[in-house]
Amino acid sequence: KKLEPQTTRETSFIGKMKKTGKNIVVFYGSQTGTGEEFANRLAKDAHRYGMKGMAADPEEYDMSELSRLTEIENSIAIFCLATYGEGDPTDNAQDFYDWLQEGDADFSGVKYTVFALGNKTYEHYNAMGKYVDKRLAELGAQRIFDLGMGDDDGNLEEDFVSWREQFWPAVCEHFGVEATGEESSIRQYELKVHSDLNMNKIYTGELGRLMSFENQKPPFDSKNPFLAAVTVNRKLNKAGDRHLMHLELDITGSKIRYESGDHVAVYPINDSVIVNQIGDLLGVDLDMVISLNNLDEESNKKHPFPCPSTYRTALYQSWVLDSCRNILAILEDLPSLRPPIDHLCELLPRLQARYYSIASSSKVHPNSIHICAVVVEYETKTGRVNKGVATNWLKNKMPTDNGHKTTVPMYIRKSQFRLPFKSTNPVIMVGPGTGIAPFMGFVQERGWLKEQGKDVGDTVLYYGCRYKNEDFLYQEDLEEFEKTGVLTALNVAFSRDQAEKVYVQHLLKKNKEAVWRLVHSDNAHIYICGDARNMARDVQNAFYEIAEELGGRYSQDVWS
Ligand code: FAD
Ligand code: NAP
Repeated sequence: KKLEPQTTRETSFIGKMKKTGKNIVVFYGSQTGTGEEFANRLAKDAHRYGMKGMAADPEEYDMSELSRLTEIENSIAIFCLATYGEGDPTDNAQDFYDWLQEGDADFSGVKYTVFALGNKTYEHYNAMGKYVDKRLAELGAQRIFDLGMGDDDGNLEEDFVSWREQFWPAVCEHFGVEATGEESSIRQYELKVHSDLNMNKIYTGELGRLMSFENQKPPFDSKNPFLAAVTVNRKLNKAGDRHLMHLELDITGSKIRYESGDHVAVYPINDSVIVNQIGDLLGVDLDMVISLNNLDEESNKKHPFPCPSTYRTALYQSWVLDSCRNILAILEDLPSLRPPIDHLCELLPRLQARYYSIASSSKVHPNSIHICAVVVEYETKTGRVNKGVATNWLKNKMPTDNGHKTTVPMYIRKSQFRLPFKSTNPVIMVGPGTGIAPFMGFVQERGWLKEQGKDVGDTVLYYGCRYKNEDFLYQEDLEEFEKTGVLTALNVAFSRDQAEKVYVQHLLKKNKEAVWRLVHSDNAHIYICGDARNMARDVQNAFYEIAEELGGRYSQDVWS
């Protein structure tokens, strides 16, 4: 039995809108669920203005029908679109994006607006939202409200709410309608408690197919993750308060293939201590078997998560972080707030997979995927210690537990982060902290190429950490690579071993002649990995400055 049929397969959204009397369709491009959540909220809002909305995943519908939206009176297409990675669309909006680019559709008469979700610290801020906004207009559609720009580095929720507050009055004015003053029903799902269900019909946290964790069948992907055995889990740092870790996941027999530079996605589960505390605070039996059924029978989304299930499973799957206050902290801090737990389950977003840059080369380790990660743990303003879900869960995943193999559900996400096609091209890799991860794979692969007798260009690494004796990750391996000539230069910036900060970009500048020669004369590829907020921008600027000073111009190469 597939868990999927919560989404009934109908690819005509126009047909569906007509059948169900909807005039507003809200398409979302969502990777982690926020875009989808915003779309659901907008679809629900429509009710207040005497209209009817539906949220829709562009991957599930025939988007070429968009030009037919004019067949529906007073209709609007709203797009909530996140930008992912290097200005890319989210996976579920990729086909729509490709089609828009190629297509020459005529959208005359189609009314639309776009809300973009992104992060200002990235170079391609809201690229996807901006593109669709512009492209739809080019193809003749009518923009009825300005593009909204959501910045996750600032306050995405606030950006969304203030955009939406202006958007609806504009829609009302456009169609000459008034708000009905009717608040949409607070609840979208109704609770059903089951007492007589066979336990093997109950969702227990697997993805895709029921029992798929007991019964693993390839191919493995985001809806059918492979349970990879943890074969190594060791602490990398020699001292300090933090916990940096190296994990190895065994993919033997899974038929999973990866390339250096790909990402591995890991599905974590929530801390049982927190889940139990929520149960206690709300006074419920977490093992009660329940379904949450959508009150709107026509909705694509029959349940907020696969049902029937238990409250315990729902909470393991769902999690909310309101700034730094998680749901438990909210319940603890507001004693009068005791929502029915089924309502809480309706509102919480489902727990998402976390991505890690693969820290190994498939040429050297075809059956194993390495992860280098830092355990997230920080004190919040309320004095609580918040722990990152995935990293703390992974930290405790030792290879065996009571004699049983420990496994983690995972799949591979392909990336554009690739070594140059020609091995003779030099590479300059800049990866401070855990940003070293993909470069462990790259260096292993360059070593392997050399062993195969290939001509391999210069392989230069700029790595940075806090203290030489504390968090110089993979020190022994890197020094060995340098000794054997696989790494032609190992430059390490220790930021806190002296009074003034020394960062990777300082070393780049110190070596500017050599850097410029590699980039300019030898066609080196440049790679940067790690903290996108400050480091990547500063390093990029250092390259620009070197180019300006020595080259008089900047010739851009691979920026990943
Ligand atoms: P979560 O439970 O998701 O908690 C993190 C949350 O805490 C975030 O909302 C964050 O904003 C917040 N937060 C963190 N610190 C603070 C603080 N001091 N104050 C306030 N809020 C804070 N990570 C690696 O370690 N290694 C990698 O190789 C790696 N590769 C990645 C590749 C890609 C493509 C992407 C998208 C991410 C990568 N990451 C990597 C990050 C990784 O996916 C996770 O985001 C990270 O491990 C945290 O997950 P978590 O579940 O432990 O934390
Ligand atoms: P870290 O140990 O805190 O920092 C590594 C080094 O970088 C330290 O020496 C630090 O110095 C220095 N640094 C700080 N600001 C810098 C700047 N502006 N320019 C250059 N160097 C700077 O790093 P971490 O804990 O590993 O965190 C790295 C981040 O990258 C994490 O958020 C992780 O999730 C992310 N990551 C992302 C990917 C990906 O997206 N593909 C992959 C791997 C990791 P000081 O602290 O002394 O100032």
